[in-house]
Amino acid sequence: MTGRVAIVTGAARGIGAATAQRLAADGFAVAVLDLSESDAKDTVTAIEAAGGRALAVGADVGDAEQVQAVVDRIAAELGPPVVLVNNAGVTRDNLLFKMTDEDWDLVMHVHLRGSFLMTRAAQKHMIEAQWGRIVNLSSTSALGNRGQANYATAKAGLQGFTKTLAIELGKFGVTANAIAPGFIVTDMTKATAARIGQEWEPYVAARAAAIPVARAGRPEDIAHTVSFLVSEGAGFVSGQVLYVAGGPRA
Ligand code: NAP
Repeated sequence: MTGRVAIVTGAARGIGAATAQRLAADGFAVAVLDLSESDAKDTVTAIEAAGGRALAVGADVGDAEQVQAVVDRIAAELGPPVVLVNNAGVTRDNLLFKMTDEDWDLVMHVHLRGSFLMTRAAQKHMIEAQWGRIVNLSSTSALGNRGQANYATAKAGLQGFTKTLAIELGKFGVTANAIAPGFIVTDMTKATAARIGQEWEPYVAARAAAIPVARAGRPEDIAHTVSFLVSEGAGFVSGQVLYVAGGPRA
């Protein structure tokens, strides 16, 4: 993969940071995108320290102008992007009767509009190269999860988006797949524990006890799966949703 350019959104921390580092280790030059360029710098420093090539860029993935500008900048400074990992995400959990318009709109803005805008801007470079890989971060919450009407809707929507991309872009050498993680230890899940008033360590232990492989997921588990899906050899895998949850169910 030496020299090919990958974009990972929401890569300042968590799953995105681990994915950016893994793709750099695989030989990609990686655009580390987060809301602000300065937030993305730590991931870039880690990649460079390991001998990889990376660029920190800032954009709100739900803002069309910022997205076009940042993809143009990545193409100019790093090279045309042929891998896109739509990972940026937020949660605004609440029971339906307490969920505000803003909670709904922000979650759709980041996950759905963000993945749409980033993919529309990046696919041009993949079509030109006649090769590309798109990976969208869904979730086991797509199957339904109490307190997450907005997030579950967005994550289920991303599965339909992924399958449609696979159908439209396949003939140009571009695959599209979704990963649906289960419980992964990140700031996002730490915030969930805090919101429901649970101590972090017992919360992780309780979640792990319900997972067949008897542990919580790590960002590296998802990064490894991304690495497979964007590899040369995965060119016949497209339109799939891979649940990476330590077992067959959430
Ligand atoms: P995280 O630690 O909260 O990281 C998400 C990153 O996305 C943050 O750096 C965040 O920036 C960034 N971001 C948010 N809004 C953005 C925007 N509009 N434009 C650009 N970047 C934005 O989350 P994570 O746990 O690593 O999750 C990564 C992805 O996996 C998400 O799509 C999430 O829904 C999905 N997922 C996670 C789990 C899990 O158990 N952790 C399970 C299933 C699916 P700020 O810090 O500035 O907000």
